[in-house]
Amino acid sequence: MHNEPTRKGSLVSLTDGTLTEAEARAMLERIRWPERVRCIFEDCGGADVYRVEVAAKTYPATATRKGRTVGARSLYKCKSCRRQFSVTKGTIFEDSKIPLRTWIVVMYRMCSSKKGVSALQIQREFGLSYESAWFMCHRIRYAMQDKSPKLLSGTVEADETYVGGKVRGRGHGYRKNKTIVFGMVERDGNARTHVVPDNSGPTLKPLLHAAIDTKNARLMTDEWRAYNGIEKSLPHGVIRHKSEYARGDIHTNTIESYWAILKRGLIGVYHNVDAGYLPMYASEFEFRYNRRKVKDAERFASLLGQVEGRLDWYLPAPESPSTS
Ligand SMILES: [Zn+2]
Repeated sequence: MHNEPTRKGSLVSLTDGTLTEAEARAMLERIRWPERVRCIFEDCGGADVYRVEVAAKTYPATATRKGRTVGARSLYKCKSCRRQFSVTKGTIFEDSKIPLRTWIVVMYRMCSSKKGVSALQIQREFGLSYESAWFMCHRIRYAMQDKSPKLLSGTVEADETYVGGKVRGRGHGYRKNKTIVFGMVERDGNARTHVVPDNSGPTLKPLLHAAIDTKNARLMTDEWRAYNGIEKSLPHGVIRHKSEYARGDIHTNTIESYWAILKRGLIGVYHNVDAGYLPMYASEFEFRYNRRKVKDAERFASLLGQVEGRLDWYLPAPESPSTS
């Protein structure tokens, strides 16, 4: 799929609330099929597809099913296999009762805001239930995940940090209910973020080896012992934070500013994030960070290009809006 940059001027309707359902469908169609619409079914893939307008229909109740009304909609029909499909088939929007234009506007908001947008804000602004808003935000975060990340190279900084959970006092057990997040950032490049069960060498080293092009990189970390021995496979600079801030280009300032962005967002917008959902929030911050040098429109087009694939897990929505 292409990441066709959205044409100049067409973004106004995203921010002023005038985007229509037909415009939203056309936007998604252009991104999914930049040349021409193709049959969505893998066993066919036919190129001869035409549009059909399906009128609203009411299905009466039967012994086994409740009656229901399906609204008028625009579908595609494949000439080869005769099957019909919608523009949202096989995407994160499939089977959603929320209008596509709402999805699109929320996606744009999540791409253009620096810190993120909470489900509570979406609920209020778009008149959705909290649960719907929450699910929508998580499906969008799923689309934000980088499914085939490029290896990090050059100078890569790695570090662990503690996030989430309520802090009760600063004494013993301060970090007990916090979650450990491990991050790697290529200087002037991309970040990778993982929620990890612990910060030991056997946990962190495989992640470093999987994410870094070890032949074309050098690693910068603090003196934490989990990194001991990594120099056998990867040149390693260590900064001793007890006594120094930076020694030449040996420092971890890049990953530390990444943590600052992540934490400001998690505290400011999402308040307390349950540890189970943290990987989803981390994907969102990583998505924006890795596209920090491009304009909002380009970041949005790139997200719209990643909506294929369905969320294949189920998470229960939190009951109280205190957890955004
Ligand atoms: Zn077909």
